[in-house]
Amino acid sequence: MISLVHSSQYSKHQTENHPENPERLEVLMNSLRKEGLLEKIDVHQPSPANEEDILRVHTPEHLRNLKIFTENGGGYLDFDTYASPQSYEIAKLAAGGAIKASELILEEYDFAYSLARPPGHHATPNSAMGFCLINNMAVAIKYMMEKYSLEKFFILDIDAHYGNGIAEIFYHDPRVLYISIHQDPRTIFPGKGFIEETGSGEGEGFNMNIPMAPGSKTSDYVYVLKNILKEVCNQFKADFYYLDVGFDGHRKDHLSSLLLDDNFYQWIAGYMRKITPKMTLILEGGYTNHAMAQSNLKMIKMLMDEGIHERKWQLSSAHQLKNETKNIFKEIQNTFSSYFTL
Ligand SMILES: [Zn+2]
Repeated sequence: MISLVHSSQYSKHQTENHPENPERLEVLMNSLRKEGLLEKIDVHQPSPANEEDILRVHTPEHLRNLKIFTENGGGYLDFDTYASPQSYEIAKLAAGGAIKASELILEEYDFAYSLARPPGHHATPNSAMGFCLINNMAVAIKYMMEKYSLEKFFILDIDAHYGNGIAEIFYHDPRVLYISIHQDPRTIFPGKGFIEETGSGEGEGFNMNIPMAPGSKTSDYVYVLKNILKEVCNQFKADFYYLDVGFDGHRKDHLSSLLLDDNFYQWIAGYMRKITPKMTLILEGGYTNHAMAQSNLKMIKMLMDEGIHERKWQLSSAHQLKNETKNIFKEIQNTFSSYFTL
C-alpha cells in the first residue's frame, strides 16, 4: 500500500519565473486526481521539521541566515536559488514531509512518497544551492537514525543532477550508502559526482556515483542499474530504503541532456520493488510539467500494482547502448572492487 505526504502550503514557496515553481506540484496532484488515484491513496499532511531535527544536518549559521534573508523579503540566494518571505517555513515543512514519509513506512505502508518543494538534495550543511534550501532527505535520515535506532540506509538518487548535499553530509558515514545516477558532471551542475568520489574515512566505498553521458537513454540506465543495484543491495543489507526521485532526466526536460522516457520511472519503481518491499520516495527535480506528471503516474501505478507489470527490457542488441555506458559500468566495477562484488 502506498501513501503520499503533501500539503497545499508548499505553493507558498514562491519563486517568480523560476523553473522550480508552485505549478510543478499542482500539476502532479491534478494528474493523480484526474486519474482517480487520490481516492485510492491516503494523503497525509506533514508537520514542519523542528530546529533540532534540522540542526542534525545544517549549521546554526545556515538556518539563521535563511531565516533572516526570508524575513527581509527574500530574493536570490545565489545565481539560481530563490527564496520568498515564507520559504523558510515552507522548507521546514518540506523537510517534515520527508520525515513523515519515512515514519509511515514503519506503519502499515509499503511505500510512502513525499511530494514536496523546495527540493533538498543540493543543500549542504552550510549553504542553500541548486534550488534547495534544506536537505530534506538528510534531515529525514538523521531523524530516523536518532529516533528509531535504524542503522543502515540505502539511497538511490535518480535526479539528473548529483545530490552533492546528501553526498557531503554522509561522505564519512558507512551507515548510509548513497548511489547517484546522473548526467556526467563535466556537462552539468553541480560539476561534482565523478566515479572516484567514493566517500572518505570510514565512509569510503559508500558513495557511488554513476555519471552518464549526455544523450543516455532508458536502455543505458537500465543496463547500468541492473548490473549494480541488486548486487550492492544484497551485500549492503540496508534497514531502510530511499528513492530520491527527480524527473529532470526526461528527454522533454530542458534542465539536462539525458533522454529518459516515462518508462524508465515505471521500470525503476518495479525494479526497486523487487529488491525491497518497503521504500520511502522523496521528490527532487523535474521541470517539464506534463512529462513529469506522466512519469510520476507510471511510477506510482507500478508501486500500486495498478495492472501494470514490469516492462521486459530486452536489449535486443548491445549496439543500442552508448559506448560510454559499458565503460562506466566497468570503471565502477573496478573502482568499487574492494567494497562490493559486481
Ligand atoms: Zn535535478
